[in-house]
Amino acid sequence: MLIKCRECTNDISSKAKTCPHCGASTESAISKFLGGVFDLFVWLSFGLLFLFILLWIVPQL
Ligand SMILES: [Zn+2]
Repeated sequence: MLIKCRECTNDISSKAKTCPHCGASTESAISKFLGGVFDLFVWLSFGLLFLFILLWIVPQL
């Protein structure tokens, strides 16, 4: 699927992360925000899992 570049209005692939014509990022602020939230969620999950394992193992030592 082709989309228009926000900067130079050339047609670019929606799969391209940057415009091949001007190099502008095609990612919208929303997708960047959602990506950031997803990363945060993944790391938070890892942190909670680690904490859970720690709290589960330590009392048994
Ligand atoms: Zn462009």
